[in-house]
Amino acid sequence: MKKIVVATRNAGKLQEIKNILKDYELLSLEDINCDIEVEEDQETFEGNAKKKAQEISEAINMPCIADDTGLCIEKFDGWPGVHTHRFLGENATYQQKNQAVLERMKDLQGEDRNAKFVCVVAFYEDGKCITAKGEVKGKIAREPRGNNGFGFDPIFELENGKTYSELTSEEKNKMSHRGKALENLVKILK
Ligand code: IMP
Repeated sequence: MKKIVVATRNAGKLQEIKNILKDYELLSLEDINCDIEVEEDQETFEGNAKKKAQEISEAINMPCIADDTGLCIEKFDGWPGVHTHRFLGENATYQQKNQAVLERMKDLQGEDRNAKFVCVVAFYEDGKCITAKGEVKGKIAREPRGNNGFGFDPIFELENGKTYSELTSEEKNKMSHRGKALENLVKILK
C-alpha cells in the first residue's frame, strides 16, 4: 500500500482523512517523528496547502498531503478565511474562538449569518502538485450545539438545520468540506 504523509498533528483531522482515503497508508507527522513547522503565510487556501505539502514532501522525501481550511463569513467579506487558525492568536481555545465569532455576529439575523467552510487539499510528489477544493455552505448558529467533531463544528449550522457537531463522524465525512475536497482529489489521482 502506498505510504503518504499527512501534514497534520490534529488527530481528528487525520481520522477524517483516513476514513476517506482508504487505499493508502496514511502517516501523521508524529508517526514519522517530523517536527517541521511550515508557516502558513500565503494569501489563499491553495497557496498555503501547496506550500505545506511541498516543503514537507521535499524534507522527508515522501509524498505528502496537506490541507488548508477556513471558515468564511459572507457578511465580513470572508473573514476569518485564511486567518481562521490564528485570528485570536496561537493559544486561543476553540471555545474562545467560537465565542469571538458569535459575539461579532450577535446582531445579525437570517442571511447575514451565511457562511461557508472551504478546504483545499494539495498532494505533492516528485516535484508535482495537484490541488482540489471542497466547499459547504451554511450559517453561523446562534449558540454552540452538539458534542462531536472539533474546531468550529458546534457553531456551523448546515442547510438541514443541524450543526456539524450534531452529525456522527460518518455523516460529517460524507458531506464535509474536507470530504468533498478529498473526494475531488481522489478522482484526479485515479
Ligand atoms: P487548518 O487549515 O486545518 O489549520 O484549519 C484552520 C482552522 O479551521 C483551525 O482553527 C481548525 O480548527 C478549523 N477547522 C478546520 N477544519 C475544521 C472542521 O472540519 N470543522 C471545524 N473547524 C475546522
